[in-house]
Amino acid sequence: MFSTKQLASFEHQETPFYYYDMSLLERTLDACSAAAEKRGFHVHYALKANFNDRILQLIQAKGFGADCVSGNEVKKSIETGFKADKITFAGVGKSDKEIRYALAHEIFAFNVESIEEMEVINALAGETGQIANVSLRINPNVDAQTHHYITTGLDENKFGIPNSELEKSAAILRESKHLNLVGLHFHIGSQIVDLNVFKSLCVKVNEWKNWFEERGTTIKVLNVGGGLGVDYKDPDGNPVTDFEAYFDIFDRFLERNSHQEVHFELGRALVAQCGSLLSRVLYTKSGIKKNFLILDAGMTELMRPALYQAYHKIERVGESDQEEINYDVVGPICESSDCFGKEVPLPVSKRGDLIAIRTAGAYGEVMSSHYNLREEIRYVYSDEIV
Ligand SMILES: *Cc1c(COP(=O)(O)O)cnc(C)c1O
Repeated sequence: MFSTKQLASFEHQETPFYYYDMSLLERTLDACSAAAEKRGFHVHYALKANFNDRILQLIQAKGFGADCVSGNEVKKSIETGFKADKITFAGVGKSDKEIRYALAHEIFAFNVESIEEMEVINALAGETGQIANVSLRINPNVDAQTHHYITTGLDENKFGIPNSELEKSAAILRESKHLNLVGLHFHIGSQIVDLNVFKSLCVKVNEWKNWFEERGTTIKVLNVGGGLGVDYKDPDGNPVTDFEAYFDIFDRFLERNSHQEVHFELGRALVAQCGSLLSRVLYTKSGIKKNFLILDAGMTELMRPALYQAYHKIERVGESDQEEINYDVVGPICESSDCFGKEVPLPVSKRGDLIAIRTAGAYGEVMSSHYNLREEIRYVYSDEIV
């Protein structure tokens, strides 16, 4: 996966660092755009997956909208050049300051998640005589069949307006002078690889759309969220997610009128495969039952394994003629959960060997922390290597 030139350049790099393959990112964005445009679909990029500057710049330049979950993400997307009328703002806990900021920049819509939040946005928009566009986030009670920490669309999750409150929400919207309902919003979870889950989502979206229309409410935007998964097991075999198959499901199963727009909020599927975390072996250690590889990267650089027991493919970078043995690959942080993988087959390794942790472009760099007073995370772009 790495060219000779890239390998040579790594020799001089201080580790750990994120390596971003910019040409793979571009191919992924182009594949997504082509499949979406063909069907008239709109795609917002979920900034929270990765807000590295050059990654954002490329996504913005390719014409994507932005999906934000904090005021600072709204600010970052505006500063990067995303058009305000393509920015949505979601999240269960928007502060007054964040709402005011988004209002001042006239973003496309707030995805609202509670009645109380609607009332606050109405009041704040009233202060400046504005009318805020809102989409109601509905919890469709669809099981995303993914890790329970990244499941968001079940009745027991904190996200969205409970179905029992929708009647009341619709009434409040009608009375609120400073709110304009533009659409319905759904987001059921992340790393969804079973496309049947999205079929079930379409069925629910159709039901809720009809429910609102029967009550005389026009729905312009059907925002079905993100959550499309990637292949963590085989990043070289499937570097670009099958966007055709994904959008095709919505094209076939979502009922829409000619005036209705379909919006998506993709994060992981756009950026996961272009990133790898590169790290060197600091020490090797043979325990009573285990062989350990101790890396110079840890959960402070890539938290997903510690946080969600997430799997990442771990590879030796460059050729090795050593036999393979199983290692527990761990980081230097003083936490037992600081482990990237257990019983990982790798060539017998020594201090200084370079290791790549693959598919780390989404929810990697953005979740890095200074815990243990670790250094600021470094990154290298493939097209800046000389
Ligand atoms: C996180 C999030 C997304 C993006 O999810 P991915 O799994 O990265 O595609 C989209 N919409 C909302 C509201 C989110 O919170």
